[in-house]
Amino acid sequence: MTQLLTALEGTISNEMRQVAKDENTSPDFIRAQIATGKVVIPANINHKSLIPKGIGEGLKVKINTNIGTSEDRCSYEDELLKLKVSIKAGTDAVMDLSIGGSLDQTRREIIRESTVPVGTVPLYQAATEVLSKSNDIGTMSPNHLFEVIARQAEDGVDFITVHVGVTREILKAMDNHPRLTEVVSRGGSLTLDWMDRNNAENPLYERFDELLKICRKYDITLSLGDGLRPGCINDATDTLQLMELMKLGELVKTAWDYGVQVMVEGPGHVPINQVEMNIKLMKRLCHNAPFYVLGPLVTDIAPGYDHITAAIGGAWAAYFGADFLCYVTPSEHLGLPTIEDVEDGVVTFKIAAHAADLARGNKEALKRDYLMSKARKELNWEEQFRLSINPERARKIRESRGGNNQDSTCTMCGQLCAVKTMNELHERRTQKCSKTSGE
Ligand code: SF4
Repeated sequence: MTQLLTALEGTISNEMRQVAKDENTSPDFIRAQIATGKVVIPANINHKSLIPKGIGEGLKVKINTNIGTSEDRCSYEDELLKLKVSIKAGTDAVMDLSIGGSLDQTRREIIRESTVPVGTVPLYQAATEVLSKSNDIGTMSPNHLFEVIARQAEDGVDFITVHVGVTREILKAMDNHPRLTEVVSRGGSLTLDWMDRNNAENPLYERFDELLKICRKYDITLSLGDGLRPGCINDATDTLQLMELMKLGELVKTAWDYGVQVMVEGPGHVPINQVEMNIKLMKRLCHNAPFYVLGPLVTDIAPGYDHITAAIGGAWAAYFGADFLCYVTPSEHLGLPTIEDVEDGVVTFKIAAHAADLARGNKEALKRDYLMSKARKELNWEEQFRLSINPERARKIRESRGGNNQDSTCTMCGQLCAVKTMNELHERRTQKCSKTSGE
């Protein structure tokens, strides 16, 4: 039985208890949020090493790390290393987006090693398998796509991105709504290409019931992909994006009717002034299902720094209600991320998620910042490292600049350290006061 059906029945599962503990809240609250579709726990019944996480309204903001091979760089050992690095850096989920090498082996190893939920885009595997035999994506049979979904489900994938909202209606509408960067979603573009070549409807849309049956059997959470997400600032919040979003809103209800957990993916590239509107619109059109945003990137001009452009948008989006942030690395738009890129991306998005948690008034986040400020005031470096988002990096920087004494200032201001000056001033005044009151 899925977490959604369990919650609707009024039962609290072990997964709900685990999430309640993680969120420092009551299992009853988690059950109620799942029952209304506002929270999901992606937890395939076959993913044995999983420590379940909750995603959605009322919980801490979560982040996802994309890993996976490409055609040109297909070392699955590297991807396993990326998995380890991302979990160590604090990711809440990973997506295996492999399209090179042995896809089954890579995915199975990742699931076996992962304590966080694992997501995939099954269409990537189906397309890669087809394209290894012919140059024509149109030769992919819908049955093959469903066979891949079933294979991945059996392996223990916890959530899958499916571009169900990319329909023939949208393909037609594209003629009248030109875009600067067309479609930048891999899954979206493949689906449009397949529909056009076959003059047929999107099989995932046409056979949505069949997809839901597989998801219900394994309790896979559906992540309704945004195949029409804007790929540049110029195309943000356009007709095509909103047409797809409205369709996804309908599909959310159908998934719930089947007892399947569902979240919805969002843009993309969005200027800061449109982020709030995008989140509120999505939540309204998709009945408050958890919202999974890809960045969003708030400018197009920073290749090499897109982990920053996306984290700015991610923090802002999460403040307005986005629940799950897909990280972006410095390699975005340029190449497959290295292991260092993955670590940078995860840490940058942990900062974005934490900044949003703080602004949303999360008690744990507020406490951590309070303790960090206290440690700064006390020049307590060990405590500062402990509370840091990346303790190793903080320690390395301090120690490499000659600041090795636990209670001394750092090399930034040296003897002009404002913290030290004020601590001494305060101590002097306290002594004066106690002398005066003793006279
Ligand atoms: S030396 Fe300057 S930067 Fe370093 S702790 Fe003191 S005030 Fe802060």
